[in-house]
Amino acid sequence: MQVSQFFDKNLLNKYNTSGPRYTSYPTALEFHDDFQHDDFIKAIENSQNRELSLYVHIPFCHTLCYYCGCNKVITRHRDKADTYLEYLAKEIALQAPLFKDYKVKQLHWGGGTPSFLTHPQITQLVSLLKEKFDFSDELEMSIEIDPREIEMDLAEHLFSLGFNRLSLGVQDLDLKVQQAINRVQSTEFIGDFITHAKDVGFNSINIDLIYGLPHQTTENFAKTLDKAHEWDVDRISLFSYAHLPSRFAAQRKLRDEWLPNTEEKFALMKLAVETLCNYGYDFIGMDHFAKPNDELAVAQSDGTLHRNFQGYTTKGGCDLLGLGVSSISSIGNSFSQNIKELKQYYQSITEKQHAQVKGVSLTEDDVLRGEVIQELMCNLYLDKKMISDKYNIDFDEYFSEDLPLLETFIQDGLVENHANYIKVEQKARLLIRIICMSFDAYMKKHINQQRFSRVI
Ligand code: SF4
Repeated sequence: MQVSQFFDKNLLNKYNTSGPRYTSYPTALEFHDDFQHDDFIKAIENSQNRELSLYVHIPFCHTLCYYCGCNKVITRHRDKADTYLEYLAKEIALQAPLFKDYKVKQLHWGGGTPSFLTHPQITQLVSLLKEKFDFSDELEMSIEIDPREIEMDLAEHLFSLGFNRLSLGVQDLDLKVQQAINRVQSTEFIGDFITHAKDVGFNSINIDLIYGLPHQTTENFAKTLDKAHEWDVDRISLFSYAHLPSRFAAQRKLRDEWLPNTEEKFALMKLAVETLCNYGYDFIGMDHFAKPNDELAVAQSDGTLHRNFQGYTTKGGCDLLGLGVSSISSIGNSFSQNIKELKQYYQSITEKQHAQVKGVSLTEDDVLRGEVIQELMCNLYLDKKMISDKYNIDFDEYFSEDLPLLETFIQDGLVENHANYIKVEQKARLLIRIICMSFDAYMKKHINQQRFSRVI
């Protein structure tokens, strides 16, 4: 893969607009409160799938990172997690029987900060999940870790419970950047923890990085990228910082003049992609990097890569059950979301025996467009004939109002539209979500709203 081809500056500037990341289609903006718990039950009954991916949301964090747009609760009181785990246990006990025919293939803990939990709390939650659900022997079990508040022995503890993948929030290693975002952490400790986790037996370690943060320069970000290489991690997620202070109050602490301008942000992104590809990582989708022998890279090359609410995944065939406050489920032809507020989550579990507050039942058109977008997001390629045969349609006729929207990309040499397939050029990889918007039937509603992040 030629790295320079991703960076046609004129084209990136031309299409540097905001758009969904398409972790689902329709996006969460289409979820509505007419979707009831009965609809969720019906979706389970109608789903052809009997493989399950579980997502568990732990909302607590010790301190507030000013760039953060996640659903979290900042507290130093660990006992708050005891109350949360009590209600989470109730939710698990209520949901698990609905999935008794399912085999769990994947378990992911996200947040907030799952490593906010103490060792006994982690043990308790894993035991409960294993007791209530039927876990596959080839379970992929992953957890997000904040390296600031943990001890070295967390690695042994997690591994002994069956976790086999770790994801560490690193973001940037420069002290001035860390101070500005209120996330100061020790580079030495992170390096030691990664080495230790590998010694313990973890063979898949991911780190998250962000570009576009205050005071970031190509000089200081290069040092962060070099460390990632030195640590020899298996996967790197590289996210663009989306500055939306009107939506996320904490971001108002980040002064505009501290942030890199568009030109500087472009240089940071270019540096990151070039450096990581030069270090031998494969560029996955639009924001992930993986070693060539990693499952994600293999899935991309054999066309089986999927996308779900956690980003790119190899387990796209599973239904997804979200547990905990604000978590999202994708069951059969439905998406649904739990309530976002902690107190209301507790109340809903007690009074309604579930925490779902909104969702959407997919129409046939949603399913079809969702598959088209998924194929393009993951493979930069769409087999029109496969879609026509599968959905019993004539692709060009069905999408006669959408295909003209591709014209601008075709003229710029970013997309080829042939009789039987659509191909997106490598140089359009960073723009893939903007290209996918051509097939999004809901986009007209949101076109003038700043609801999504920009490409760069
Ligand atoms: S970035 Fe992570 S650790 Fe920081 S406040 Fe947000 S969820 Fe918590």
